[in-house]
Amino acid sequence: MKKRSIGFRLTSWYFLVLASGLAVFGIAAWFAMRASIYDAIDDELRDRVRGVAGFMNLQIGSLTAPEMRDEFREHAVLGPAGDLFQVCDQEGQWLYRSLPLESNNVPIAAPAALPAPRFEIVRVQERPLRFYSERIVVRGKPYAVQVAAPMKEAFEALDRFKLLLLLAMPLLVLAASAGGYWLSSRALAPVDEISRAAQRISIENLADRLPVTQTGDQLQRLSETLNAMFSRLEASVRRITQFTADASHELRAPVSLIRTTAEVAIQKRDRAAVEYFEALDEILKESERTSQVVDTLMLLARADAGKENLACEATDVCGVVRGAAEQGEKLARNHGLEFNVSLPSAPMTVQADRDALRRALLILIDNAVKYTPKGGSVKVKLAMNDGFAIVSVADTGIGIAKPDLAHIFDRFWRADKARSREQGGAGLGLSIAKWIVDEHRGMIEVESEPGKGSTFRVRVPLERS
Ligand code: ADP
Repeated sequence: MKKRSIGFRLTSWYFLVLASGLAVFGIAAWFAMRASIYDAIDDELRDRVRGVAGFMNLQIGSLTAPEMRDEFREHAVLGPAGDLFQVCDQEGQWLYRSLPLESNNVPIAAPAALPAPRFEIVRVQERPLRFYSERIVVRGKPYAVQVAAPMKEAFEALDRFKLLLLLAMPLLVLAASAGGYWLSSRALAPVDEISRAAQRISIENLADRLPVTQTGDQLQRLSETLNAMFSRLEASVRRITQFTADASHELRAPVSLIRTTAEVAIQKRDRAAVEYFEALDEILKESERTSQVVDTLMLLARADAGKENLACEATDVCGVVRGAAEQGEKLARNHGLEFNVSLPSAPMTVQADRDALRRALLILIDNAVKYTPKGGSVKVKLAMNDGFAIVSVADTGIGIAKPDLAHIFDRFWRADKARSREQGGAGLGLSIAKWIVDEHRGMIEVESEPGKGSTFRVRVPLERS
């Protein structure tokens, strides 16, 4: 089904609501007008009956029947609705009958048949008349009085009002809907502009932004939100591009080293076996390093895609630190460093993936060893604070300059590119360690002073007992 524009849908709703509201209003207004016309006529009819009753009270007894009739006629002709009335007594004798009623023989109920006053509309000679019949008692005798009022003008007024409503309301609804459509189209025009501008932005010009008009309304917020989204996308794309460039660069170096080593080895034919062995050894080392980098990249890519999940279970973190420290101690001793480990006696339970956490700690210990010159020391300590198990790895090494601290967890970032490459680092270790700690809902932080050493701290939340 073809989707209609918001302006069209808004106007349709507006049209429906307005049309039904006005229809209800028109019907109610017509009925209210009709009720008020009838009320006015009925009040007047009641007044006339009261006038007749008052007149009869005064005159009956003192006048003869023909005199009464004359008086009635006079009274009737002076009345507001002409002489439309008739009076009869209990026996059905007419006291007075005005000419139009008599000539059309309009019936009247006997006083006994009028327990309550009665209103009705009767057509007399095609003229609609509203009749009011009431039983009155004059000097102890009951009479039936009937008065009538012509309704032609009232009906005409009601018909005129109906016509006015039927003509004016559709026009009003159409005019208001057209105005509503114009207003909503005008109000929504910037949305089309925003979508056109957004369509122009692609991966090639991600730095472009939508124009933001300072209106303070939803459209300004929409443009600002989209611009913020483009900024995030731009940052992500830049990170991915950087990552790809760094990864290719990182892999190109060992691959070209392997190639050069092999080419040099193959060029001179009369080589000693030991030289071939050295070349192969070099190729093997570089291959190992390359496949390590590839493995790490694969791990990070899987982690980014949310496909690498850790299997966390209740784990005694003392055991994990002890395992990592044992391995770290060998590294430290090989580098001529002093190594200390301090563990609490009581177990400390955290939700952890044992192997992953051990890998993160080993990365920190390995770095501490790599970046601490001979004679220095590395200390590993486990403590508990504020619901967290805190493992600190402190060294007395070269330290990290303040501006570099913000970057050390970035992928492929190395403070001293040449030196750490020589020491075997691709700049991915801390990225992996950070990912592992994050997966444990923990934190990793660093304090460092160039020339004095660095301390890395890993906090992992303790399991609530
Ligand atoms: P690498 O494999 O190069 O060690 P990492 O991601 O583990 O990569 O570390 C990134 C950079 O942070 C290192 O190249 C080094 O410059 C700096 N670094 C990490 N740990 C230490 C440390 N204990 N002392 C000094 N510098 C460090």
